[in-house]
Amino acid sequence: MAMDGTTYNFGKARPQTAPPLICFSHLRWDFVFQRPQHLMSRFAETRRVFFFEEPVVSPERSLSLRLCPLTGVTVATPMMPDPTDVHEVRILLDELVASIGPAVAWYYTPIAVAFSSHIHWLAVAYDCMDELSGFRFAPAEMRLREQRLINSADIMFTGGASLFAAKRHLHRNIHCMPSGVELAHFFTARSLLPEPEEQARIRRPALGYFGVIDERLDMALIAGIAALRPDWQIIMIGPIAKLTPEELPMAPNIHWLGVQRYQDLPAFLSHWDVALMPFALNDATRFISPTKAPEYLAGGCRVISTPVADVVSRFSGIGAVTVASDAAGFVVAAAEIMACSDVSDFVAVDDLLATMSWDSIADQMTKLLAEAQQARRLARPHIRPGVAKVTADYTVVGAGFAGAVMAERLASAGHRVCVVDRRPHIAGNAYDELDASGVMVHRYGPHIFHTNSDAVLGYLSRFTAWRPYEHRVLADVGGDLVPMPINRTTLNKVLGASLTTDAEAEAFLRTLAEPVADIRSARDFVVSAVGQQLYKMFFEGYSRKQWGMDPSELDRAVTARVPTRASDDDRYFQDRHQCMPAEGYTRMFEKMLDHPNITLRLSTDYAELDAKASSHLVFTGPVDSYFGLCFGALPYRSLVFEHETREVEFVQPVGTINYPGMETPYTRCSEFKHITGQSHRFTSLCRETSSATGEPFYPIPNAANQALYKRYEALADAETGVTFLGRLGTYRYMNMDQVVAQALAAARRLLDVAKVKAVAE
Ligand code: FAD
Ligand code: UDP
Repeated sequence: MAMDGTTYNFGKARPQTAPPLICFSHLRWDFVFQRPQHLMSRFAETRRVFFFEEPVVSPERSLSLRLCPLTGVTVATPMMPDPTDVHEVRILLDELVASIGPAVAWYYTPIAVAFSSHIHWLAVAYDCMDELSGFRFAPAEMRLREQRLINSADIMFTGGASLFAAKRHLHRNIHCMPSGVELAHFFTARSLLPEPEEQARIRRPALGYFGVIDERLDMALIAGIAALRPDWQIIMIGPIAKLTPEELPMAPNIHWLGVQRYQDLPAFLSHWDVALMPFALNDATRFISPTKAPEYLAGGCRVISTPVADVVSRFSGIGAVTVASDAAGFVVAAAEIMACSDVSDFVAVDDLLATMSWDSIADQMTKLLAEAQQARRLARPHIRPGVAKVTADYTVVGAGFAGAVMAERLASAGHRVCVVDRRPHIAGNAYDELDASGVMVHRYGPHIFHTNSDAVLGYLSRFTAWRPYEHRVLADVGGDLVPMPINRTTLNKVLGASLTTDAEAEAFLRTLAEPVADIRSARDFVVSAVGQQLYKMFFEGYSRKQWGMDPSELDRAVTARVPTRASDDDRYFQDRHQCMPAEGYTRMFEKMLDHPNITLRLSTDYAELDAKASSHLVFTGPVDSYFGLCFGALPYRSLVFEHETREVEFVQPVGTINYPGMETPYTRCSEFKHITGQSHRFTSLCRETSSATGEPFYPIPNAANQALYKRYEALADAETGVTFLGRLGTYRYMNMDQVVAQALAAARRLLDVAKVKAVAE
């Protein structure tokens, strides 16, 4: 049924106790009754569920809505002249969301992110049921989109254990939920049901398969079994996808019965002697967890499968499932099964199946989803769910310090500002949050606020109160913990000196220093101050790990950040103001962005903005990416953050311990409670390991990179209507306060220009 109005009244027949859910699926509702259909049918018992399919060709743009009476799910199919037109799909989706109100998004296909990420969902769930990028004809952007989806998801599920093992490090709230079985439905196959006509014509014994028939099946194996036993019949049920007819083995004893209704599967199954899972072992099957395995078993049929990882692990010890690798193995196993009349091994099967019902899986997922929704609401109270419309004077890309300060300044001056960030949260790299145990952590590594600027502190103080905090760092040198930056205590401890005054320490340092005529590199800076021995002990390994290159190849400014001291001051920073936002950075950013003139669009990449609707753009993302990497990529250093919670109050004596030795793969480990001042009976730590690939965190300061940046800078200067800001936008290794100062100055300039324009007009 096609709808052209914008008010949709489908799926309201049952009482709804939960908000509506829109499920984005690459599988059509009527294809086969698979995981999405099982789960959505159950979710539809308590909420309106819209199953949003991929678009189909039609002369007019419309959203076809069809209520599936059996399940209560509404199937939404976008219709349009060009089904690749993401913009058109987005319009239809926006209309649907505007009509049904705030909703939860549930994804099977990351490709849908392209037209749905601009919506403020109540919660975003990604149910990853396959490694789709391994499938035949998978779009090239699949991995990229999946990464974005994972970043924006509040909760993630995997359809099997292998997928879970492969993806568990990608999301903090990820759960392994192997597919289940509708027990009552398939149990009926245990007594002989009336046999469907097309199968009744086929002789016995019968070895059957039902499911999608695509590149995941091992056609040579099927042909091999058929050839070895011409007297056995192989029954293949299911839609044929992505394969040409030539790829299907043809033989008098192989019967392709095509797609059959889910309701009728038990009737077919009840007459089989053996059920087959003849999967090829390839990229497309590495992570599969076939739904049919428990279905065959519930129907009372023994199974032979190739050694698909999840089948082997899930059914090990279950006698009714045999694993074989080739046609000969399948034939031997099938002969044994046919000769066996013992049903005792089905006791273990039934015990296992009792734990696999779709009902209990759907219940668990519903509960976890509700928790994720609640967590999102608490984390972002200021974001109103629904479709965000951009009608702004300024678009700001990036909701970190650079973007948020700029947006706040412009909005307070009366301009309408739209802030987009590709991450699902505000605050950029300073983002902090409560982890699963309730300990406040910094997701992107420890951020300590320090500044000499009264203006910067004064400005930020409008949005937060402060708690005094002076950061202390100890370096682990061969197991001894000594103050870093190097100070008098460090010298006494590692060199066995007994220096008691600053003057003595200064004199001692002069004896160590190895003067360098022209101090250019990060190595020169340290060696000229403290000599080779201390350089090697504290800087060489750490910097090599941190930057992936020798300090002699880095600008002196890098190590100038941690100058040696003759005093016994063991604070990491010596700025006049050292403090932490009392309720955390995210809270401070919420207050900064909570302005009627500011619209926030999270989980939205600048590249995806439809119309560049505003007259001026502030860009705080990587400057090279803005210009399509036209001069080549600017080098950035990335980091991997390994977060850990321990059930003790404290682990470290100070906020951060540095590991300068090459024997430790990470550079430093920070314990957040020292930094945030939180009282909690658990503690959370974060180890940082540098990496050449991943999100850009650090511009790498050296002459070659600066020269490359200068070329981009020239383009940036020439770009009218765009201001580039921040660590990434101006390719500069800046601290938070420096970024705030930069953004405040840029806002002043922009506002002056706007005033002049207004007067001129
Ligand atoms: P970011 O915070 O990186 O914000 C940029 C935002 O733009 C990001 O949220 C990103 O998702 C978004 N974005 C990028 N491209 C796009 C796009 N195409 N579309 C949409 N959005 C996009 N500073 C200190 O003062 N003290 C510290 O202790 C400290 N510790 C640090 C520790 C680590 C591990 C790191 C990495 C940095 C640390 N810093 C510290 C530096 C601090 O993080 C930066 O100075 C500050 O975050 C820079 O703010 P920004 O707005 O320029 O960039
Ligand atoms: N550094 C080092 N050993 C240390 C601490 C720092 O070699 O124990 C060097 C390293 O190259 C590092 C730079 O000094 O990248 C700046 O250190 P800082 O703590 O300022 O780095 P941040 O993590 O704040 O960028």
